[in-house]
Amino acid sequence: MMGCRIVVDRTACIACGVAPSICPDVFVLGQDTGRNRVVDRYSVETTRETSIGVVPEELCECVKQAVDMCPVGAIKIEAQDSKH
Ligand code: SF4
Repeated sequence: MMGCRIVVDRTACIACGVAPSICPDVFVLGQDTGRNRVVDRYSVETTRETSIGVVPEELCECVKQAVDMCPVGAIKIEAQDSKH
């Protein structure tokens, strides 16, 4: 099953809240810096600077919407074999 790999540049994120609003199953404003991150369930690696995750195919569409809506271009997405 195909999924999507996500990389959030948390240093670029301005914590506008759009990503968690559009795609709450995938994104949340982190308790550490207040900036966007991939939720624990789908996070592969999350630091204060970067959050990397892999989500199943059914969640890729809302991630793409968040990519398009992010005002600072802080989210990248690419197709990848899902680990789930
Ligand atoms: S849309 Fe962009 S700036 Fe806004 S919370 Fe998400 S990653 Fe951060």
